[in-house]
Amino acid sequence: MTKDTLRTIYKAKRMALMPEEKQLLDDEILNGLKSLDLSSVSYLHVYLPIVKWNEYDTYPFIYWLRQHHPAVHIVVSISEFEKGTLQHYVWNKESVVANVWGIPEIIVQPDTVHVDPQAIDLILIPLLVCDRDGNRIGYGKGFYDRFLQGCKTDVQKVGISYFDPMEEQIPADRWDVPLDSLITPTGSIRF
Ligand code: ADP
Ligand code: MG
Repeated sequence: MTKDTLRTIYKAKRMALMPEEKQLLDDEILNGLKSLDLSSVSYLHVYLPIVKWNEYDTYPFIYWLRQHHPAVHIVVSISEFEKGTLQHYVWNKESVVANVWGIPEIIVQPDTVHVDPQAIDLILIPLLVCDRDGNRIGYGKGFYDRFLQGCKTDVQKVGISYFDPMEEQIPADRWDVPLDSLITPTGSIRF
């Protein structure tokens, strides 16, 4: 199947998750996130959830991190749509607004700290589905592929998905950067 076909199928599958069912799955994903080894993680990148797309809500994990790993810097991004790139900043409970595409973003203040992608140790990556080699289907704009290209080689790339990896191989393109691991409601997988 092509990437576009898979995108359409898995977008629909995710949108079909009912709130009560999704809440149960979210609790399992949160357990998986809490089990991450953060001993060598100083800068941890998270996405802020796009609610209308039924994305996994990262806020409970963000608040858990704040409480249990206060030394970890939580990093979030702002999209530059013209270039298809992201700028990264330390999250510090700043107010969040939806940009014109409905993607939540912090409001950059004079004291908001910019983060170089090379400083990031672990990235939580949203996706629709991946295969058993960690090849990922994102939303089709390549934002994370560009982002990962500028990161250090040993950055931990952790996907979050409601769905187990597909048996069928995903047709990866030359710019695609595979995941190192995946957290789903049924457990964590290393590729
Ligand atoms: P996604 O990863 O979001 O599912 P794709 O892998 O299909 O989407 O990539 C979408 C577009 O992004 C492609 O047309 C590709 O040309 C562009 N792209 C991805 N990574 C890069 C990169 N590192 N440099 C330039 N363009 C890129
Ligand atoms: Mg890609």
